[in-house]
Amino acid sequence: GQLPNNHSCSEYSITVDMAKQSLTSFSLNDKVGLITGAASGIGLATAKVFLDANIKGLLLVDQTQEALDCVFQQLTSDEISRCDCLAADVSSGNSNYAEQAIKKWGHLDIAVLNAGIGSELKSILETDVKTWDRIMEVNARGGLQQCARVMVKRNSGSIVITASQLGLQGSPLLSAYSASKWAVRGLALTAAEELTPLGIRVNSVCPGPIVTPLINDMKGEDGNGWQRMADATLMKRLGQPNEIANAILYLASDAASFCSGTTLKVDGGYAKFG
Ligand code: NAD
Repeated sequence: GQLPNNHSCSEYSITVDMAKQSLTSFSLNDKVGLITGAASGIGLATAKVFLDANIKGLLLVDQTQEALDCVFQQLTSDEISRCDCLAADVSSGNSNYAEQAIKKWGHLDIAVLNAGIGSELKSILETDVKTWDRIMEVNARGGLQQCARVMVKRNSGSIVITASQLGLQGSPLLSAYSASKWAVRGLALTAAEELTPLGIRVNSVCPGPIVTPLINDMKGEDGNGWQRMADATLMKRLGQPNEIANAILYLASDAASFCSGTTLKVDGGYAKFG
């Protein structure tokens, strides 16, 4: 047909080539990654999406070998050949999973710092210090420094932190959880400012309510907690782990090559936790 406005074909072909490149940039070919909290929920869905995106090497980190073994049982032999696993408590600081990825594959391109715990619904007046400290040490401590230290040697890398919608607002009956997720967002923004000039992108994803074991404790005394969470979204439903994994793939991959310090909400259009 006729080209509008007398544009030359070459102008259009440049655009088409760029579109092709954009799609390819979601591929994790040749990349090595690690995911904490990889044995369940969002972390596990992310592992599957990364494997589907052809990742070369993937270290799955979670608390127990038993849980990791269960994941391996569900993988194909091709997927297993590209995976390794490590049982570690991300709050302890004793395990260097970044180094383990380097030992196995020689480099680390992507770190998804996703391990986290929730809590029962309790008012501030009833929340005990032990619960507060545990939530803070698991959710807010987890692994960024060790990943940054190995990535900085190659001046390249992408770190994605799983924060939460509840790190963007107050959340009655979940004070410790909300505080831990605000802390994580502060860490992500600060790390982006420090590390982007060194070649490392740092972004966070803020999921709304997602169907995983983490929200089992959030049903509330009347049992209607999940319904209230669903009602608080514009879509009137809870999300699925793969809906977050897709967003993590975007931020982790070269498709997000111009993103650092981004907080990506994936929350069904969350209005207010009520
Ligand atoms: P999940 O319970 O299904 O998965 C969390 C995983 O982290 C589990 O496999 C658990 O064993 C692991 N983990 C917990 N503490 C750990 C530790 N100290 N060391 C190593 N691994 C540990 O829950 P999920 O919903 O998939 O949670 C993943 C992340 O998403 C968490 O950071 C959570 O706060 C966040 N998030 C979840 C929701 C939601 O509605 N499910 C919403 C917003 C944010």
